[in-house]
Amino acid sequence: MKRYSAFAVAREALRYHMGWERAWASPEPKKKYDVIIVGAGGHGLATAYYLGKNFGITNVAILEKGWLGGGNTGRNTTIIRSNYLQDPSAAIYEKSRSLYETLSQDLNYNVMYSPRGVIMLAQTEHEVRGYKRTAHANALQGVSTEFISPQRVKEIVPIINLDGPRYPVLGGLWQARAGTARHDAVAWGFARACSAMGMDIIQKCEVTGVSRDGGKVTGVTTNRGDIACDKLGIVVAGNSGHLADMAGFRLPIESVSLQALVSEPIKPCMDCVVMANTVHGYMSQSDKGEMVIGGGTDGFNSYTQRGSFHHIEETVRALVETFPMVARLKMLRQWGGIVDITGDRSPILSKTPVDGVFINSGWGTGGFKATPGSGWGFAELIAKGHSPLCDEFSLTRFKEGRFIDESVAAGVAH
Ligand SMILES: Cc1cc2nc3c(=O)[nH]c(=O)nc-3n(C[C@H](O)[C@H](O)[C@H](O)COP(=O)(O)OP(=O)(O)OC[C@H]3O[C@@H](n4cnc5c(N)ncnc54)[C@H](O)[C@@H]3O)c2cc1C
Repeated sequence: MKRYSAFAVAREALRYHMGWERAWASPEPKKKYDVIIVGAGGHGLATAYYLGKNFGITNVAILEKGWLGGGNTGRNTTIIRSNYLQDPSAAIYEKSRSLYETLSQDLNYNVMYSPRGVIMLAQTEHEVRGYKRTAHANALQGVSTEFISPQRVKEIVPIINLDGPRYPVLGGLWQARAGTARHDAVAWGFARACSAMGMDIIQKCEVTGVSRDGGKVTGVTTNRGDIACDKLGIVVAGNSGHLADMAGFRLPIESVSLQALVSEPIKPCMDCVVMANTVHGYMSQSDKGEMVIGGGTDGFNSYTQRGSFHHIEETVRALVETFPMVARLKMLRQWGGIVDITGDRSPILSKTPVDGVFINSGWGTGGFKATPGSGWGFAELIAKGHSPLCDEFSLTRFKEGRFIDESVAAGVAH
C-alpha cells in the first residue's frame, strides 16, 4: 500500500490522479480465519487494526452486512470527549481521546481530529453540583476538565443565550482538548490500514448464524457461505441482541433509535461543541459550515434507523432557546441510527458464555468517541483473554451488581 503524503498529492496532480490505489481490497471470504469480527463499524475495524498492530494477528476477517461505516459510525454527530465520572470509564474514554490526538499520523489517513473543546452546560443547581463533582473526579483521574462560569461560557460561545426562557446557564463543564473528528474518515482510515496488513474486509456479508461445538465457537453462517474461525468478536451496535441470540446467550440491552439533523451551511459562528442536557439538545459546526444538531433517543424500541418527528421538534425547541439564531436556519436533512443501551449506560466488553465468542456493545448514544480505545482494549481481550481497559466492563457485572453508573455523563449526552 503506497503511503499518502504531500509528495504523493503533488505526484498525482501531475499525472491526472491516475495512480491512486483502491483504499482497501474486496476479497472473497476464505474458508477459515483465526479471528472473525462481525461488524465493520469503527469499533470492529479498530479492533481488527489493533489485533494486527499490537498482537501480530492478521489472519482476520471483518464481515459487514451492508457497507463499512454505514451503521452508527457514519450516522453520529462526531463528539469526542472523556469527561466521564467513574474511573473505568475515564480510563477507556481518555485512552481513546489520546489515541485520537495522533490517529491521523498512526493510520496515515486524515481523520480530521479537531480538539476544539466541548462545553456541557449546567442549567440547574443539580447539574452545577454534578459537573463540579465530575471535574474533581476528572482531576484525580488525570483527565483535564474544569467547571467554568457563565461569563466564560459566553466568551467561548458568543452566540449563546445565557438567560433561556426555561433554564438560565449557570456554568459549564469544559474540556478544552475534547472535540470532533470526521466519522467516515475514522472508519475508512482503519479499513485501509487493516487491508494493508492483509486482513479481509468483506462487505454485503450478513452473519445469519453462529456455529458451536461443545460450547465452543467454530465459525459463522453467512449469506456468502459458512466461514470457520477460532475466535469471534461481535461488534454490531444496535444489532447486538440478534447476534447474541444466534450465539445462544442473552444481553441486558435495549435497541432504540437516536437521531440527528444538519442545517444549511452558514459562515463560521461557533468553534466548539455545546451540549445542553437539561433542555436536551447539542450543536457544533461542521467544516462545511452546517450546524450539526442532535437530541435524545426515542422512548420506544425499534430497528428503523429513522427516528420520530416528536424528537425533531423537542430538539429544535431546545436549540432555539439556547441559540436563538437557530430559529432562522433551514434544516437540510435528518437521519437516525440504532443504538444499544445498557441499564448503567456503560458498554459491555466481555467474554461470553460461549468459549471463543467476545462481545463489544452497549456504547449507546456515545461510542464514536471511544472507537480507538475500544478497539485497543477489545483486541487485547481477544488476543490475551483479558485487558485492563475492559475487565470492569464484563457481562458478569450485571449479575454481581457492579454497575458503572454513567447516567449523568451518558444518559443524555453523547
Ligand atoms: C444520531 C447519532 C448521534 C450520535 N452521536 C455521537 C456523538 O456525538 N459522539 C459519540 O461518541 N457517539 C455518538 N453516537 C454513538 C456512536 O455512533 C456509536 O456508539 C458508535 O458509532 C458505534 O460504533 P460501532 O462500530 O459499534 O457500530 P456501527 O457503526 O453501527 O457498526 C456495526 C456494524 O455491524 C453491522 N452488522 C449488524 N448486524 C450484522 C450482521 N448480522 N452481519 C454483519 N454485519 C452486521 C452493521 O451493518 C454495522 O455496520 C451517535 C449515534 C447516533 C445514531
